[in-house]
Amino acid sequence: MIVKNGLVALPGEARLRRVDLRVRGEHFIEVAQNIEAAAGDEVLDASGLMVFPGAIDPHVHFDEPGFTQREDFLHGTSEAARGGVTTVVDMPCTSLPPVTTAAAFDNKLSIVSKSAVVDFAFFGGVSGHAVKESLEGGMADLAARGVVGWKCYFISGMDSFTRVSHDDFPRILREAERLRRPVLLHAEDLDYVTAATGRVKARRGGKPAEWSDYAESRDEAAETVAVASALALASGREGFLHIVHVGTAAAAALVAASDASCETCSHYLAFSREDFPRLGAALKTAPVVKGRGEGERLWALLSRGDIDFVASDHAPSQAAEKDTGDIWTAYGGIPGTGTLFPYLLSEGFFAGRLSLSRFTEATGGCAAKRYGLAARKGSIEPGKDADFVLVDPAGTTTIRGEELLSKGHLTPFEGMRLKGRISATWLRGQVVWKAAVETPGLAPSGGRIVARPGYGKFLTWGYR
Ligand SMILES: [Zn+2]
Repeated sequence: MIVKNGLVALPGEARLRRVDLRVRGEHFIEVAQNIEAAAGDEVLDASGLMVFPGAIDPHVHFDEPGFTQREDFLHGTSEAARGGVTTVVDMPCTSLPPVTTAAAFDNKLSIVSKSAVVDFAFFGGVSGHAVKESLEGGMADLAARGVVGWKCYFISGMDSFTRVSHDDFPRILREAERLRRPVLLHAEDLDYVTAATGRVKARRGGKPAEWSDYAESRDEAAETVAVASALALASGREGFLHIVHVGTAAAAALVAASDASCETCSHYLAFSREDFPRLGAALKTAPVVKGRGEGERLWALLSRGDIDFVASDHAPSQAAEKDTGDIWTAYGGIPGTGTLFPYLLSEGFFAGRLSLSRFTEATGGCAAKRYGLAARKGSIEPGKDADFVLVDPAGTTTIRGEELLSKGHLTPFEGMRLKGRISATWLRGQVVWKAAVETPGLAPSGGRIVARPGYGKFLTWGYR
């Protein structure tokens, strides 16, 4: 197949370039101007469209097996494809049993392989109640099976996956260094959050809590203290440390000054705690969004590469788990894998906050390198998997929760109007999601998944 006449985002280029792409089987094999179609070549005319590398969402919770009332691989990967994401990395902590052992890994893989419509990799995990087992072979077993890192928490709300202590943490990093893969840390400080939560609850007396209480209980300092602790404990192994979902610019700046890496999420770029009165539980995540102005500071860090990449932290739930009427018990997580790329495209690239190269790095290139997938993923180059997104730059996208293919439909991005419209998502030379053809005079009818469930391939560290 030849993708002709598109404006293509090539690695290291300052501008989109009008080049053709020859795809054979699952791979790009040629990138050049005016590739001649031979007899029998299928031609995909991309005139008027931009061609971006398929995005990587390196932080999703698809909850299967175990919490499939919230999300599963079929819905999660379908929503990813709808939003231009061709590879996801799933977290170990929100499936049951959590992926801390080889048996749990094998069980999860056998179940989700049947339904994935985009490519996927797994993180393993280290849970506080079984650190010894993880250090004495658990992490190594998971490395042998191809996990691309290990997740752990300094604070956890889950009984099935508990926090690791500051004393455990250096030993986990040492084992990760031996196995040559990163440790991913949820960095909020337990002591700070526990004390602040107690204080704001006491202040209300018997009166109902307000969203500002939740925001105050896990403010900027909760993250900055935890990141500083993690860096202090890493002592020489910062290169094996990755901080997930950073929402505080000062915390990201600490990471940037070290050999560690970090990600932020689109909701930290887009919203602040001042949005809670308007959005309520639809905005509840952990960490929580921060103060006004923090988003622009995060954009600046992202544009310089001080924040390495952006993830969704996709973690939807049933509406009933959000609508508890109590800020403390409302589920802390939102869908996001389908809005990640469209949001960054519009507010990052088109709005001029991100250069073309930072945009493609932040939406895939950097994560591919960090998680051992860069031989085949993360850019449009000969030899790489033919994963790409076709975008109509003249189109617009209005985010509608009801159109999400996820099991969760409550999104803080509801109603947001973005520049650019995805017309199709391609994975390994096959179209997986396609926008419906619009009929003038009729409302757009969304799009549809074209790939069969199970087309998505399991990717291991070093995938080639
Ligand atoms: Zn998460």
